[in-house]
Amino acid sequence: MCLLGMTKTVLKNLFSGPTTERYPFVAKKFLSGTRGKVDIEIEKCIYCGICQRKCPTAAILVTKEPKTWAVNRMSCISCNACVEVCPKKCLALNVKYSACAEKPYQDSFGPEKPHA
Ligand code: SF4
Ligand code: SF4
Repeated sequence: MCLLGMTKTVLKNLFSGPTTERYPFVAKKFLSGTRGKVDIEIEKCIYCGICQRKCPTAAILVTKEPKTWAVNRMSCISCNACVEVCPKKCLALNVKYSACAEKPYQDSFGPEKPHA
């Protein structure tokens, strides 16, 4: 009886399609209510650091000299606080994947070399 059940499962798995998605070739559908990840239009940023000061998890790091803006993806809780306070309206929570980053979990932007 047990062997029959196992055989059925094996046959079903052999002839059904893959259950995983081929990221990044096939875009994942996000669940409704997903808040997304914080994104920046870096050309509008004036590096004032207000977002860094308001971030409750210290996920953002801004430097004036050199001009850099970075977010630690593992610390961000998608609370939207930085988006609300940005005077240049250059932050937004977007539902999309991050591109591969040089440093794991951190996305850095800026006209000058991002900080380490
Ligand atoms: S608050 Fe806005 S303008 Fe200021 S550093 Fe942050 S993203 Fe840039
Ligand atoms: S969404 Fe919230 S936790 Fe994430 S970077 Fe902005 S202020 Fe920080």
